[in-house]
Amino acid sequence: MQTKLTNILKEAKELLANATGIAEAEQVRIRMLGKKGKLTEILRSMGTLDPEERKIIGQAANNVRAEIEARLTDRFADLKQAEKGLKFEAERIDVTEPGKQRPLGAKHPISVTIDEISGVFMGMGYSIAEGPEIETVYFNFDALNAAADHPSRDMTDTFYIDENTLLRTQTSPVQARTLLKQNPPIKIISPGRCYRCDTPDATHSPMFHQVEGLLVDEGVSMSDLKGTLDSFAKQLFGAGVKTNFRPHFFPFTEPSAEMDVSCFKCGGEGCRVCKGSGWIEILGCGMVHPNVLDVGGIDTEKYTGFAFGMGVERIAMLKYGVDDIRLFYENDMRFIGQFK
Ligand SMILES: [Zn+2]
Repeated sequence: MQTKLTNILKEAKELLANATGIAEAEQVRIRMLGKKGKLTEILRSMGTLDPEERKIIGQAANNVRAEIEARLTDRFADLKQAEKGLKFEAERIDVTEPGKQRPLGAKHPISVTIDEISGVFMGMGYSIAEGPEIETVYFNFDALNAAADHPSRDMTDTFYIDENTLLRTQTSPVQARTLLKQNPPIKIISPGRCYRCDTPDATHSPMFHQVEGLLVDEGVSMSDLKGTLDSFAKQLFGAGVKTNFRPHFFPFTEPSAEMDVSCFKCGGEGCRVCKGSGWIEILGCGMVHPNVLDVGGIDTEKYTGFAFGMGVERIAMLKYGVDDIRLFYENDMRFIGQFK
């Protein structure tokens, strides 16, 4: 019996020394001191001994139990410490390690161009006005003095939804809506999407962007229009560019003009960008037609105004040397990511 006890103690010591974790140490406790443990079995079997022997073995068994318990306590403490150390090591953060590089997004070139154009006009005190892309025939054409037989009303150019509704072909209907809503002085620009039934090619897209501008106040003249747009061109393309106004026709302005800027690529010498002419057409403009002011409820005896409109894609293509409009809509990140 004494030998058995000595062996139990020896086994417990060895097992504990080899235990690599708290769970293993717990297995040793169950194996030795648990309900069916080796030491427990010895204590149970002591009933068969005579009283004298029982006293001696009982004493020895208690000593072994105390010894195993003490060893268990120590081992548990060591293992707990070791596991904590491992956990800390696993969770260690090296704050000096370089961070993970995540690719930064970039604004779409059309948004970049709209922001640039808007920035120039906001600097001159213009505010942004918006209108619906699904527009009425009335605001897209009638309110803008576009007679029922005007070629822009032709079914081949316009996406009609029904007889009275269409996808706006220009941002100009925002002019008509603003004239109805606001009293002069009015000073707005309106950037937005427009739609026309064009077959996509290098210079056409069925969806494109325009920026429209409108100023209505007392005593506004053609020279205000020229001064404003000349200043805009210099801020957008560089202080050195010159502007030239050519007579043109739009139903909603009278007189109407197209504005050219001197070629910012060749300085007017003639190159591929300006097709050898030294000038590049940038926008359409003119004095707001009295019929348009009338429809907007503006007193034409008292007020005059000017309006202008430009294609955002065209300006972006010229400014950034893009020669195919489709690149803006193909969403090739290698192209789009260049316009940060
Ligand atoms: Zn040129």
